[in-house]
Amino acid sequence: MTLPPGPVHLRQVRTGNLQALLRAMLEGPASRAELAQRTGLTKATIASLAEPLLRQGILTEDPEVNTGRGRPSRPLRFSDAAPVAIGAEINVRHLAVSVQRLDGSTAATRRVDLDNRRRGVDDLIDRLAALIRATLAESGLEPLGFGLAVPGIVHDGTVVHAPNVPALTGVRIGDRLAAALAAPMVEVDNEANLAALAHVWPHRLAGDDFVYVSGDVGVGAGIVLGGTLFRGGSGFAGELGHVIIERGGRPCSCGSHGCVEQYAGLQAILATAGHQRLDQLHNALRDGDTRSRSAVNCAGSALGTALASLINICDVATVLLGGSYATVFDEFAPGVRAELGTGVLAAARRPVALAASPLGRDAVTRGAAGLITHRYCLTPELLLEFDPNATVDGRSTTA
Ligand SMILES: [Zn+2]
Repeated sequence: MTLPPGPVHLRQVRTGNLQALLRAMLEGPASRAELAQRTGLTKATIASLAEPLLRQGILTEDPEVNTGRGRPSRPLRFSDAAPVAIGAEINVRHLAVSVQRLDGSTAATRRVDLDNRRRGVDDLIDRLAALIRATLAESGLEPLGFGLAVPGIVHDGTVVHAPNVPALTGVRIGDRLAAALAAPMVEVDNEANLAALAHVWPHRLAGDDFVYVSGDVGVGAGIVLGGTLFRGGSGFAGELGHVIIERGGRPCSCGSHGCVEQYAGLQAILATAGHQRLDQLHNALRDGDTRSRSAVNCAGSALGTALASLINICDVATVLLGGSYATVFDEFAPGVRAELGTGVLAAARRPVALAASPLGRDAVTRGAAGLITHRYCLTPELLLEFDPNATVDGRSTTA
């Protein structure tokens, strides 16, 4: 193969090699020789690529390990003191923040339960910015950037429609939060999309093809096909909660009737079970309350009806349940399974695997932070040029 000459090409090669090194590091700490094996690069190339990452404090070197053959090795790992990504979430009944390292480990996390259905934007921003500052201060680390998840459709940074937190509709919420934090920017996406992404980056947790269903007051889906989030033509894909399962059925906050959210959403479950809050439902289920069990099972059937249609169309083999659904999985899953068994045409040939998300309730904020770590790992020059003093709030560690 003849390589094109010139510095542009060399820069591209170096970027590609740095990406390969960072991806290899995601598999865990390793010596330069092991990293050479993981990447297919030479040990000398690994050493030269790692040098600026060590200097910048992104990677760190362990003490010498004597392997018994050849020279002792010094494994490289992501530094616990390296800058971090912040994932934040505004949802119907809570705000949450997670501080994530480049390798996907959590440095700090906080969550506040509160009803945001009638809360104004200024109040939401004030509370979330305060929660972010507190979580970041707890971690003691510098922020690389901020990702924000919202319970609505997002297009070009604007929340186009957020039926359950209507104050967000029409707002460039990322810009507002960036201004409150004095940060250059905050990336925004739909919460189910981001929760799905958390199962793809920085670690593949559910294969290449799956649907993540987020169940709270709203119901949303993140559809991953071939390892990539399917966003649709304009970014509006995955609105599973507004798939109609009963023509002319119950009125929905979106303005339509018979949407799955009105049968399988948390509000519908609580109303049918006769509870006000999720913890009351959990207690009743634990005590074997038949009305609560039946309400959750019926909700599972309603979701399963819509999911079966989705799977008939996009042929995914795995469904992950997140949000509140994960917390009532044992009671919820049988109803879903029954509908998938009868409604998915290929079910006999290829059964659909149904599981609770392994990331639990942190999936959304981890995915929001993943937007940032993904960008930095794919554009490693940004990591090497990162200047914490230019990033947020005028805070500085270089006194
Ligand atoms: Zn609807």
